[in-house]
Amino acid sequence: MEDTVAPARQVPFFDYQGLFRTQRSEILAVMTDVLERGAYILQKDLAEFEAKLATYLGVKHAIGVANCTDGLALALDAAGIGHGDEVIFPSHTFVASAGAIHEVGGTPVPVECGSDHLIDVSSIEDSITNRTRAIMPVQLNGRTANMDAIQSISDRHGLKIIEDAAQSLGSTYKGKKAGTFGLAAAFSFYPAKVLGCFGDGGAVVTDDDDVAEHIVTCRDHGRRKDGNVDRWGRNSRLDNLQAAVLSYFFDHYDTTVKRRRHLANLYDEQLTGHESVVLPPGPNQSEDHFDIFQNYEIEADDRDGLQTFLRDNGIGTIVQWGGYAVHQFRDLGFDQNLPYTERMISRALMLPMNLSVTDEDVLYVCAKIIEYYGA
Ligand SMILES: *Cc1c(COP(=O)(O)O)cnc(C)c1O
Repeated sequence: MEDTVAPARQVPFFDYQGLFRTQRSEILAVMTDVLERGAYILQKDLAEFEAKLATYLGVKHAIGVANCTDGLALALDAAGIGHGDEVIFPSHTFVASAGAIHEVGGTPVPVECGSDHLIDVSSIEDSITNRTRAIMPVQLNGRTANMDAIQSISDRHGLKIIEDAAQSLGSTYKGKKAGTFGLAAAFSFYPAKVLGCFGDGGAVVTDDDDVAEHIVTCRDHGRRKDGNVDRWGRNSRLDNLQAAVLSYFFDHYDTTVKRRRHLANLYDEQLTGHESVVLPPGPNQSEDHFDIFQNYEIEADDRDGLQTFLRDNGIGTIVQWGGYAVHQFRDLGFDQNLPYTERMISRALMLPMNLSVTDEDVLYVCAKIIEYYGA
């Protein structure tokens, strides 16, 4: 009988329809304008969005690409990473980070994360060999890693830094934005990202003119302005229609980030002090970090039981990456053991965190979590 009682509230993990529903007429106006101009590939909306992104980040070049994974591969390629080169990355990431390294012929070397769920600095040091060429910090969950320490390792060992900034547009460390620390960085505009479009999209940013030139040509088949092709490229352009949509959303980006930080603060207030859950660093915990809360990832005792209980109460949650750190994909050839990451992944759970989530939703989610452990 109890099973048939409808939950008091429905809080989906992510409301994909909500992306459009809430701003239907504005979005249709943006799209209609592009469609009426027939402006589909490498048009002014893309150039405008790239300029906005570069200005926002304070970088010289922002180059729209088809998705962040391509962007990472293009950036690694432009950095000269290739066959036999080892690139260190945190295993708690999307397989895309490693996939991009593999794609250019490099060897992805997964390392541990720390209590903030970001790359662990001492593990980087332990994993450096004479084949290591680069570090790929992943600015995960909307937070930027401790880049001072990473920068100092890279300086000492002569390693390049290519940031996977897919989840962290606008996040800062000591006032400096994610994506601006290394030679180049890639961002994702996948729909569920903080800045998302209606399909796939990404961008690479860099201050280096040669890297930028490499990526601008290689995203478009290696074609140069004069028509000559002197290197192999691919087709990885950011659609102009998506760029126009992104430009529209980007104009409201500060409000978006503020709202997410507000929700994170609510979670933090409600759940602090409850022993069964470990919270991510709160929005105002440290002067050094400004987090944009792409995700709100907790660690929870009896995680699977909690997830089921929340689901039965209408609350959607997700275990990031399907519950696997990258090195746990043994069929890809990884043989590392990363106990900290493995334990963390077995306890990690992401709570609803997006613009469709109301304050009351957060209070409901927190009340249910407390109810679960109280029982
Ligand atoms: C989303 C994501 C990617 C991949 O981005 P796409 O645009 O889907 O290629 C890479 N790394 C991380 C950490 C991500 O979250």
